[in-house]
Amino acid sequence: MTPVIALVGRPNVGKSTLFNHMTRSRDALVADFPGLTRDRKYGNGMLGGKAYTVIDTGGINGDEQGINAAMAEQSLAAIDEADIVLFMVDARAGRNVADEAIANHLRVNQKKTWLVVNKTDGLEEHSAMADFWALGLGDPHAIAAAHGRNVVSLVDLVLEPF
Ligand code: GDP
Ligand code: MG
Repeated sequence: MTPVIALVGRPNVGKSTLFNHMTRSRDALVADFPGLTRDRKYGNGMLGGKAYTVIDTGGINGDEQGINAAMAEQSLAAIDEADIVLFMVDARAGRNVADEAIANHLRVNQKKTWLVVNKTDGLEEHSAMADFWALGLGDPHAIAAAHGRNVVSLVDLVLEPF
């Protein structure tokens, strides 16, 4: 069985950028405004001889209404379908209440969840990560999806049990 990896998190944290790197495609629309990916999007990738499927989602705000509610629903469906959840947060924005709401959901969910701190380029890594320990999801993993930094090592790590 090919493992399924879901990318979840607030809009604009860099989920589609990571999706593009993990699938080496330009398929997922990357935009400067949040919430563009409204539906789930599926792609395939391969690392070290292991195939995987990755799901991009529109993002969860934590206070969903209207179109945002639909995006949240897509994210929850993606989590259900996944073997592995990559919960992405934004090192530049810091931790916020929406991150905490998503973390609360993921902590009670039984899915294997990895906390991924994106946009760490140009930041001092140690202090950039400190804020995110409080989410209670364990060790935060620093990446810079836009530059592909630490992406291969992260995917390698999450695929280890498969
Ligand atoms: P999504 O809404 O979570 O899918 O986020 P996107 O992938 O569309 O990215 C939102 C914005 O963040 C875009 O302007 C990206 O170029 C930018 N971005 C994504 N990854 C990084 C990163 O590693 N570093 C920086 N500085 N910007 C990033
Ligand atoms: Mg997106």
